[in-house]
Amino acid sequence: MSAFVAEFMSQVKAKNPAEPEFHQAVQEVVESLALVLERHPEYRKAKILERIVEPERVILFRVPWVDDQGEVQVNKGFRIEMNSAIGPYKGGLRFHPSVNLGILKFLAFEQVFKNSLTTLPMGGGKGGSDFDPKGKSDMEVMRFCQSFMTELFRHIGPDTDVPAGDIGVGGREIGFLFGQYKRLRNEFTGVLTGKGINWGGSLIRPEATGYGAVYFAAEMLGTRSQTLEGKKCLVSGSGNVAQFTVEKILDLGGKVLTLSDSAGYIYDEEGIDRKKLAYVMELKNIRRGRIKEYADKFKSAVYKPLDSKTDHNPLWDHKADCAFPSATQNEISEKDAKNLVKNGVYVVSEGANMPTVPAGVNVFLDAKILYGPGKAANAGGVSTSGLEMSQNSMRLSWSREEVDQRLHGIMKAIHKSCVDASQRFGTPGNYVNGANIAGFLKVADAMMDQGVV
Ligand code: NAP
Repeated sequence: MSAFVAEFMSQVKAKNPAEPEFHQAVQEVVESLALVLERHPEYRKAKILERIVEPERVILFRVPWVDDQGEVQVNKGFRIEMNSAIGPYKGGLRFHPSVNLGILKFLAFEQVFKNSLTTLPMGGGKGGSDFDPKGKSDMEVMRFCQSFMTELFRHIGPDTDVPAGDIGVGGREIGFLFGQYKRLRNEFTGVLTGKGINWGGSLIRPEATGYGAVYFAAEMLGTRSQTLEGKKCLVSGSGNVAQFTVEKILDLGGKVLTLSDSAGYIYDEEGIDRKKLAYVMELKNIRRGRIKEYADKFKSAVYKPLDSKTDHNPLWDHKADCAFPSATQNEISEKDAKNLVKNGVYVVSEGANMPTVPAGVNVFLDAKILYGPGKAANAGGVSTSGLEMSQNSMRLSWSREEVDQRLHGIMKAIHKSCVDASQRFGTPGNYVNGANIAGFLKVADAMMDQGVV
């Protein structure tokens, strides 16, 4: 680590104690930016880095609600408005018991660079709650969402801050949140993305993050004149991102061997075909069951429960060509990264945000595999949210083909920006540097133009 990075990180840690995920996300970006700051002392002088790690605004609030037994429950609500230099704050809401300030700050920070890469005018934000939708009735989820929005509504708006979904926030939750916003504000606007198709949503938005991660992998393979046809793929998670990652891998001729949830994973040696994927979608999105049930239904699959005491996840220890981590942060340990490389995996496209620990990222970079970090590879979701905002502003809806074509074009453009920036700054093929540098430059220049704010 250079002296500059070490000094900067000690300040970040002192000012933001007990936020390890935030420190991790900042450190990765700052390491990539060391070269840029050498060539551009004007950014140092204007304290761009010191400003970019400080959220413009953090909103913390109480979310009281009443469960089905009539008991009062209290959760924490958050919205991090990180950076609005290039557009209104934009980023998802996460409902998960692990949610805390540091995790949301890491996600909001990543979002700033990701949104900049998309070519669309969106700033960065993130929010959520430690509420766990798992095991709650629809009515409980509705009452929680209504209470959450009863505070959040005064801080957001179509030109201010436009939240979307993330872990634990899908179509059902966005519906309840939008309904309450509309009721409180008495206006029908594009204040949230991921809306239902009959009330302002965009076609392809649910598919976009997964499809985008696969398009990104295809672009990376293209640099070696290869395609996904016949490639064996490991996918983690079984939620929104994982499901549509599988769908697009199948479209492009690949074979998917695994899926998981927080309790364990399944390995299906015959591959997860469209019929089995339809079963997973019904299991996860409607019945809200566990991935274990897949192995009860399909005899070609084996289920293994997660063992939190080991230093690795056996999901990442199978022979394959490509890996698509699509569950959560830090799900690939250093040992997992080594196992992936040992088993022949040479394409990693991150659907999840920061799924690989820093030592694991170094394993990928040292092995010179095609490694697409989340802020580039999973930017398809927020890109299509940007397209949903455009359609809402114009009060029209594009066809499925049109949105998919634009999404594909954006993923190609993001890939090219990463390749170009990594070359320009002397580390060709390093998509981590490419994504961080290309994302940073646009935001930094906008901040320079707008003065000290
Ligand atoms: P989701 O639909 O809620 O699915 C999340 C999946 O990951 C579920 O299978 C869940 O299992 C699993 N998971 C969650 N926390 C876990 C943990 N601590 N350990 C192991 N497994 C865990 O969420 P999603 O929208 O697919 O998001 C997945 C990832 O993609 C997240 O990192 C998110 O930030 C990122 N992402 C999402 C979007 C988007 O458009 N949705 C865009 C960009 C990036 P359980 O059901 O057991 O919890």
